[in-house]
Amino acid sequence: SIRKISEEYDKVFVTGCLEPQNHHPRQNAAFVVLARNKELEGVLQSLKSIERHFNRWFNYPYVFLNDGDFDSTFKETVINHTSGTVEFGKIDPSMWGYPDWVDVAVAKEGVAKQGDQAIMYGGMESYHHMCRFYSGFFYKHELLQKYEWYWRLEPDIKYFCDITYDPFLKMAEANKTYGFTIAVKELRETVPNIFRYASAYKRLNNLTSKGLWEMFVEPPPEKPTSLPTDDPKYKAPLPEEILKMDPGRNALPEVDPEAMESENYNMCHFWSNFEIARLDWFRSKAYEDFFEMMDRSGGFWMERWGDAPIHSLAAGALLSPADIHYFRDFGYRHTTIQHCPANAPARQLPRIPFLEMTTTDEKKRKEEDEYWDQWDPVKENGVGCRCK
Ligand code: GDP
Ligand code: MN
Repeated sequence: SIRKISEEYDKVFVTGCLEPQNHHPRQNAAFVVLARNKELEGVLQSLKSIERHFNRWFNYPYVFLNDGDFDSTFKETVINHTSGTVEFGKIDPSMWGYPDWVDVAVAKEGVAKQGDQAIMYGGMESYHHMCRFYSGFFYKHELLQKYEWYWRLEPDIKYFCDITYDPFLKMAEANKTYGFTIAVKELRETVPNIFRYASAYKRLNNLTSKGLWEMFVEPPPEKPTSLPTDDPKYKAPLPEEILKMDPGRNALPEVDPEAMESENYNMCHFWSNFEIARLDWFRSKAYEDFFEMMDRSGGFWMERWGDAPIHSLAAGALLSPADIHYFRDFGYRHTTIQHCPANAPARQLPRIPFLEMTTTDEKKRKEEDEYWDQWDPVKENGVGCRCK
């Protein structure tokens, strides 16, 4: 079972308080930060946090990427706040913006329409480009070619706990591919058709689940027990969004609706503003095919597909639970959603395998949110859930 798999394979790497375990050589890894000049303050806050809680002992390098040019204030400030070496890269238009096969007028209209519908970030062209870049291009950037691993960092994030071991080393030792700290539900209106295409990819490539796909599938509605279970009348209905959608704009061949009937997306995804992962997985032919198919559907513009559900559904199609690591011991906050291993009451319960620890449980999430609303980092002496 999934529970057994994750109990066996996804153990916490390190328990208890440790002196920083930095006596091993660094892995071939870097922090990756996509940002704009105007985000310097938020970037600084993130750098201070990751340096204080981890990198002052480990000195991993940073790669800063931007579709524009970083100005000298940005670069100097960043260099003054980092213990590892820093490289700044510009993103080529081939990795950012509309590719030549896209009908730009149609795409722009699609974006504008999402703006009219008040879909979060839906009307913001640059956000669509950012999501597409993080879905299919960052790992191809020349500054990342030499690296085997990356750790994604965003402006305005905070680490609460000292991270006293090298997560790259531990992931390498445990043969892990992808690590996360938080899983949440996506806003349905940003990805109405994403699952149809991800499912179609799986089916077209004859991929059978390695046990992770189920994490993203809504259980079908209960069937009356008195009726034969194979009665086609009791198949799960097509989601309304799919029935309503206008397929004319999708370049992708029509997906067989019959095959879709039994599976709906439950909106769960790894929250990708934190990620520690192997770059060679993204560079694999399987991932590349997946991205290509998703990209060609037009969903990065006609909808507002985020890189988080893209990475997650790719993982679901291609990886097994054993390839995934849940960094349940990392205290992490991005904007309003956070995870703290020690302080949150829910975390003091016996460890539950990561598939059940995702915050798709609304009640659990609410409890946690309420707890964190009351949590005062100042009163707590600013130490959050540090070991010491
Ligand atoms: P949110 O976390 O989903 O609210 O989105 P953010 O605004 O934090 O964007 C995600 C990441 O992409 C952050 O690291 C941003 O700095 C970066 N980002 C977003 N849009 C752009 C853009 O147009 N240009 C650049 N260079 N970075 C961007
Ligand atoms: Mn962000």
